[in-house]
Amino acid sequence: MAQQGILRFRHLLTPDGMVHDRQVIVGADGRIKRVEPADGGPWDGWLSLPGMPNAHSHVFQRALAGYGEARVSGEDSFWSWREAMYRVAARITPEQLHDIALHGFIDMLRAGFTSVAEFHYLHHLPDGSRSTAMAEAVIEAAKAAGIRLRLLPVAYFHSGFGMQPPLEGQKRFVHRDIDEFLRLLEQLADACPGIAPHSLRAVPAQWLNDLVRGAGEILGDAFPVHIHIAEQQREVEDCLAAHGRTPMRLLADAVDLDARWQLVHATHASNEEIDTIAAHGAGVVICPITEAYLGDGLFNAVRFRERGGSLAIGSDSNCRIDAFEELRLLEYGQRLREQRRARLGTGKGLGAPLWLHSVAAGANALVMPCHGIAPGEYADFVVINETADALAGHAADSALDALVINGSRNDVSAVYVAGRRVIDNGQHSLQGRARDSFHEVVRALITA
Ligand SMILES: [Zn+2]
Repeated sequence: MAQQGILRFRHLLTPDGMVHDRQVIVGADGRIKRVEPADGGPWDGWLSLPGMPNAHSHVFQRALAGYGEARVSGEDSFWSWREAMYRVAARITPEQLHDIALHGFIDMLRAGFTSVAEFHYLHHLPDGSRSTAMAEAVIEAAKAAGIRLRLLPVAYFHSGFGMQPPLEGQKRFVHRDIDEFLRLLEQLADACPGIAPHSLRAVPAQWLNDLVRGAGEILGDAFPVHIHIAEQQREVEDCLAAHGRTPMRLLADAVDLDARWQLVHATHASNEEIDTIAAHGAGVVICPITEAYLGDGLFNAVRFRERGGSLAIGSDSNCRIDAFEELRLLEYGQRLREQRRARLGTGKGLGAPLWLHSVAAGANALVMPCHGIAPGEYADFVVINETADALAGHAADSALDALVINGSRNDVSAVYVAGRRVIDNGQHSLQGRARDSFHEVVRALITA
């Protein structure tokens, strides 16, 4: 639900940089009509940033945060964590998913994210029977929270390269064939979805063109295609063993990579592969907190950005939700890789260019008009108060540097989605109830 009106801010981070004493005219469709000098009237905030799109989330995985951290074998990895995730995935009901998602989406809003691409693979009911109840639980939770959702139903057919049969733990994710998946997509077409072939482990490369074509017949032209790729070294090795090529090479050979394609992680893409992705205009979605949490590795983001690549961020496992922290870890990972400072900033600083790029790249990844504070884009705002802890002495022009280095979600005072205020004073109206339900569900799923 959008809200028509005028919002006034002392400072506004626009795609052209920081501007001062402005009012934003919001249309009935929730999009920005004009940005113009303020005519007086009360201020709605000190500094407003454009809302950050969250370009990759599996919201149910939030239930696992902080569990499974004991050192077991010395070889604990993504693959051992995945076993724990499958145990939760096997049991979760639509009602439980709704409660986890509602709390997760509220947390995203409080942390600076105003839209989310939900990479949704928990399709079937716990007994394996077909239903849209799980997807509807996510859609309802997003509506109740007030976050904009790009649902990405996941296509998942096999358990490994060479069309290996699915594992027991994957039975809620898998479809028999492309037709069965497309029937689900048809049922969800009103929710404005994109599609997400899970990975080249789960979808054979030679099926991708049929899958995208079939989805296009249902969804028209303007939908994104997201795929996990090259997240772990073992995935690259398995792909080389099965196909004599890396996953990135296999993908680039199989499809016409273009801006519709969003490559999630791409952690172990080689320099040559990074250049190929950028040259084709495909995007990369990086999830710095989760990639660190799972011990994946570090993507060469500096090279990708130098080649003009579009780099969005996602909260992925949702073990910690904070747009500022994602950007901090993104930058720090590159500093550690290269033993240099100031890797992803420009002569104008770190925070503002990084925030603006990530917003625009996130909008590209969602294929939604939320690229920044400009006419035609959704009126999505993250408002920071002058008194925010991170800002000590900073004027608006350097506030983003302070927020990315020293700030957090705690510095967010208000959030607007399509002109409607969903977070006020750092709080969401459903927050208390959502937290209680979330705690109850996690106890039932994990500790009971
Ligand atoms: Zn993922």
